[in-house]
Order: sequence, then structure tokens, then C-alpha cells
Amino acid sequence: MSALEFELNALPGIGADLLREITRIYESSVPMPTAVHAIPSVPKVGRGMARLPELWALIVDSSSRLASPWMSGHMDTAPHPAAALTQAVVAALNNNLLFRELSPFASDIEEHLIAHFTRALGLGNDWTGLFASGGSIAGLTALFAAVGGYAGAGEGRDRFRLLMPESAHVSLRKAAIVLGMIERQIQRIDCDDAGRLDPAALEQSLRQLPGGARPIVVSVLGTTIHGSVDDIAAVAALCARYGAWHHVDAIHGGALAYSHHHRHFLSGLDQADSITLGPQKWMYVPRVSAICLLRGQQRLDDALGLPLPYSIGERPHRGRWGLQGSRPADAVVLWAILQTLGTDALGSIIDRLIGLTTKFHELLTESQTLVPTHKPDLNLQVFRIGKADRSGDRLAAIQERLAAAGATWMSISRWRDEVLMRAVLLSPSLTEAHLRQFVRDIEKAADQTA
Ligand SMILES: *Cc1c(COP(=O)(O)O)cnc(C)c1O
Repeated sequence: MSALEFELNALPGIGADLLREITRIYESSVPMPTAVHAIPSVPKVGRGMARLPELWALIVDSSSRLASPWMSGHMDTAPHPAAALTQAVVAALNNNLLFRELSPFASDIEEHLIAHFTRALGLGNDWTGLFASGGSIAGLTALFAAVGGYAGAGEGRDRFRLLMPESAHVSLRKAAIVLGMIERQIQRIDCDDAGRLDPAALEQSLRQLPGGARPIVVSVLGTTIHGSVDDIAAVAALCARYGAWHHVDAIHGGALAYSHHHRHFLSGLDQADSITLGPQKWMYVPRVSAICLLRGQQRLDDALGLPLPYSIGERPHRGRWGLQGSRPADAVVLWAILQTLGTDALGSIIDRLIGLTTKFHELLTESQTLVPTHKPDLNLQVFRIGKADRSGDRLAAIQERLAAAGATWMSISRWRDEVLMRAVLLSPSLTEAHLRQFVRDIEKAADQTA
């Protein structure tokens, strides 16, 4: 048998090992790997399928454990096991959203979910969109459409002005520069201390634009540092008054589509021109999964469409739109998790985590050492430990101490001129007891580094 032939008869033997390793991923509670492992070098003669379980064990032992509720420092969690298992099926199929014949089911699912999110977010019937590989690519796609896309072929780009809150994700600055904008075309709009865009500052910037300028305004539904939500409706009204394209970065907060109690944050969203969503952040699917929604099929065709000469078919291939060529069938994984959990359960998890974050804010307020620096809108809470830390040295020492103890892991973020501890409460297994332990762990580590 040639080594490249698929050894299907090995599958039953290692299937149980695979499930054991996956179970171990979900059961491990220590966030960081405890041992450093040597990486076996690439062999001339392969080890064979039967040795795969050893590699899986090595991978699991050496990786961070996103499923652990103690791992509460990033907008990243382990996907729901149903999504992880479906990902294996999707990977084996390797269907490609580029062409219909390479994704007969997945392309239909992509369309089905675009329509689903349009409804779930309360958008009009004229919304459309596409999946993109990650939030940065989805944001780039939206801003590319805003500056005219393929239709303009780069014509007149110097007239565009991008107005972004100072809290906007760095990927939007990257996108602006990729799109050929220069510094004077990119303006930062002041925010409040929790990173919410100040509509008055935005209006002033819009008013001061030179004649003939074409403004593009970004607002954020769930900022990356504070999880704050901009006043989308106020920004929408200003965009309408000044003729600006309104892009809403809902990569994190788009999950509120399923919330039972916090849907007021979505108000005004239906008047946007483009919206990006990031299911990989708060919908418990694996990377990559992001969506760029656009108002108007014509815009999608004009700005983001180019014909593909490689395979002529009856229905338009979904690869004719957007920036990417090949795209994974990640829409199918998202669809499977929505089928498995249902939107009610997802909404309840989201609401419960927002409630827990409010509780965490209360616990921090009661602490002698830990100081929350904002009231949370969603499931992120930033806080100071003792005095303001400008260098981040003390926080790094605290974080290291916590990691060594196998305890709470939170990230360290810079906001303006201060470095802060950042908690993202994302694990569905989080409870109030965890929050109390977070506070105790961090207070103790802070004492030891005082
Ligand atoms: C994470 C994030 C992004 C970028 O998404 P990636 O998938 O990491 O490229 C964009 N905007 C916001 C608000 C984010 O939190």
C-alpha cells in the first residue's frame, strides 16, 4: 500500500483515542500548559496513522485550554463540542464556498444564515452579505465596499475620510491603510472613559470635513478592550445627516441578536450600510467564522462582485463576491451549532454572562485593591490593581504568578496611557463562585508583588 493511500481501516482503532483527547480538552481546568514539550522533528519515514493518538496527546498537553472557565482573558473560548465535532466532518469534506459544485449544501447554508442573521438583527429585506475568514477580513471587505470596491478600481479614493472611535479595533486601521488611505484620511474620534464614541465629537469632525469629502464612520457594538457599545442610533442619525457610510463593527456584540434582555443595544443597526459579525467570538464556533453584511444586493454586486471564469454554472457561485478565493465551509459549523443549541439557549448564555459581568463589577467595587475603571455594557470588565500602572510591569508579574499557580488567567491591555487587567467572561461554565475566586486569586498575587 502506498503511504499516501488513506488508511481507512485505521479509523476505528483510533476513534476512541480521538474522543478521549477531545474530552480531555473540555475537562482540563488549568488554563495554561504546565510542561514545555520538545517538538519532534519532521521524519523521513512517517510514523503512520496508528501513532496519531500520541501526537494528539502532545498537542493537547502543550496547548492553552480555552474551555477552562479560569481562562477568562480573551474573546476566545473553546467551541461547543458539537461545533468541534462538526468541524471534523466539515474538514474531511473540505467543501469550498468558492464554487457551487464544490459546496452544493454549504453555499445554500451560507445564504440561509445570511438571511437568518438579517432577521435576527432586525434588518430590512434588502440586506445581503457573505462569510469571510475572520473579523479583520470581514472588516476589510466592508470598508472596501464603502470606498467603491472593484467598481471604482481605486478611482477617487483620496476623497474618502474614515472616522473611527479611538477604541476601534486595530484591524480597521490596517484595512484603511491596505485600501490606500493616508494619515490625514484616517481620523480618531474621542470616546468616553469606557471607549464609547462621543457623538458630539463625531458631529464636530463631520462638520469640519473639507467640501467634497466622502465620510465613512465606524461605530462599535462591543469594543475589544471594554466590551462597550456605542450609541448606534445616534451615530446612524449623524451619518444620515452628513451623508456618511456607516459601518458597525459588531464582531463581538453581534451575538446580542439572540439576547432576551439586551436587544436595545441593537437599536439603529438597521440604518447602517455595513455590519460585521464574528461568530467565532461569542457563538461558540471554532475559528474562522466571520460575516460581512451589506445593505443592498446591488451594492454587493457592484462593489464586491467580479465574474469568475473558471467554472461556468447556472446559479452564481458565491466566490464571485468578496476578497477571498477559496473559503472554508465554516457556515456549516455555525449552522450545526445553531441547530443543536437553538437561539433561546444561546441568548440565555449571553444574558447570563452579561449578568455575571455586572456581578464581577460589584465584587471589584467591594475589593480594597482592585478597581474597575468602567461599568460593563456586555461581558468584558477592565480593572486597575492598586495604583495606575503605566508600564505594565507589575501587571505582568501578577499575571505570571497567577499562571504559575495554575489559577485565573486574564489579559493585560493598554487603554490610552494606562495598562489594565482585562477579563472577558465567555465560558458557559462560569459561575459566581469563579468570580469570587478570581478576586481572591488576583488580590493574593497582587499582595505578593506589592
Ligand atoms: C476581534 C475583533 C476584530 C478582529 O477579528 P479577527 O477575527 O481577530 O480578525 C474586529 N473587531 C472587533 C471589535 C474585535 O473584537
